[in-house]
Amino acid sequence: MLGNSSISQRFAEDFKIGGEMRIPRVDQDLCTGCGACVDVCPEVFELGDDDIARVVNPTGASEDRIQEAIDGCPAEAILWVEE
Ligand code: SF4
Repeated sequence: MLGNSSISQRFAEDFKIGGEMRIPRVDQDLCTGCGACVDVCPEVFELGDDDIARVVNPTGASEDRIQEAIDGCPAEAILWVEE
């Protein structure tokens, strides 16, 4: 059984594009706090005390699941950024 660090490391490999990492980011000016991204990817997103989503673990889920959260955001407030 893999420990959490091994899983995160495995997912982290999926995020490398030409040696760069891409990670999700929430535009807090656009977020309406609907919570849809948290429902899809609770390992990656959480709602803060201000009811605005934020990224707590950018490599906590597969890229496909994060993309699902991005596609499901009604405010189009989540975007990929390269690190
Ligand atoms: S799905 Fe979009 S609008 Fe809803 S909480 Fe997440 S980032 Fe905010």
